[in-house]
Amino acid sequence: MGKTIAFILLPLILITTSCVKKVEEEPPRKAGFGLVVHGGAGYINPGTFSPQKKKLYINKLKEAIAKGSGVLANGGTALDAVETVINILEDSPLFNAGKGAVFTAEGTNELDASIMDGKTLNAGAVAGVKHIKNPISLARLVMEKSPHVMLSGEGAEAFAKEQGIELVDNKYFFTEERWNYYQKVKKEKMKNETAGINLNSGQKFGTVGCVALDKNGNLAAGTSTGGMTFKRFGRIGDSPVIGAGTYANNNTCAISCTGHGEFFIRNVVAYDISALMEYKGLSLNKAAGKVVLDKLVKAGGDGGIIGIDKYGNIAMPFNTKSMFRGFSLNGQEPVIKIFKGG
Ligand code: ASP
Repeated sequence: MGKTIAFILLPLILITTSCVKKVEEEPPRKAGFGLVVHGGAGYINPGTFSPQKKKLYINKLKEAIAKGSGVLANGGTALDAVETVINILEDSPLFNAGKGAVFTAEGTNELDASIMDGKTLNAGAVAGVKHIKNPISLARLVMEKSPHVMLSGEGAEAFAKEQGIELVDNKYFFTEERWNYYQKVKKEKMKNETAGINLNSGQKFGTVGCVALDKNGNLAAGTSTGGMTFKRFGRIGDSPVIGAGTYANNNTCAISCTGHGEFFIRNVVAYDISALMEYKGLSLNKAAGKVVLDKLVKAGGDGGIIGIDKYGNIAMPFNTKSMFRGFSLNGQEPVIKIFKGG
């Protein structure tokens, strides 16, 4: 008798609990398509950020988001939207990617980028390139036109030439603002050789990234950067490292990171968020919060992430003072935020 009851009850309990879990795992579809963009995390003070400058950033982010959202609205792929958005931000001197990249300790610019397709789990990345105007486009070519995932330095640039990609003089990336910041850090370094770069002294990282969900339910993520001011030449950050700075998987989410790269690599941040969703059934919001606001903070890693899941839920947590960020869902007006409250 006891056995019979158990025989009936056990499957019932299993069905009920799996149903409850399912509800938790699959929040209602928020959007049929959409994208989230970041323009870097950092330590901008609302008080010292002039309204004119704020407007420049907001307008550029709005322009990029509107273009990317247009791609998605017209049935374009998540990958196309990600590349379109990042190209616009790479071409703007406001961000630390493409034109406007920060300087290495040698006073040169070395750029990193990566892109990932959540449908196929294919990925492409370039690291330490010095003459590529739009590194994200080269990363996409590595993914689509080579058998490799990551190409670096001269090899990446030789591949770019073969693919007919635009190469530029290293001086193309120069902007006065980044140069002045580089000089300031250099002076501080000379004053005290052992002084680290004080990331809290008003630096904003300024890397750019985009994650997108297209009408076919496919996810993609991309990140592009000049790295960190006064980095050693040859230093490669998290942005071109799949799983650290960029990750996309149609079953979970698409993530792009910004912040102190070494911490993002050690903590495999982008993949960790996806894994928490995949293996623990956490929502995007909970998984992203756990990694950025708990694990990274404990590890001492400054920065933030943007994410979108297959239902169109988005997350944009950061543990710094500010993070340029914005989104558009279902082709609606872009929403832009910089500080904690907005
Ligand atoms: N994560 C980038 C790096 O470490 C910097 C940034 O996000 O601005 O290279």
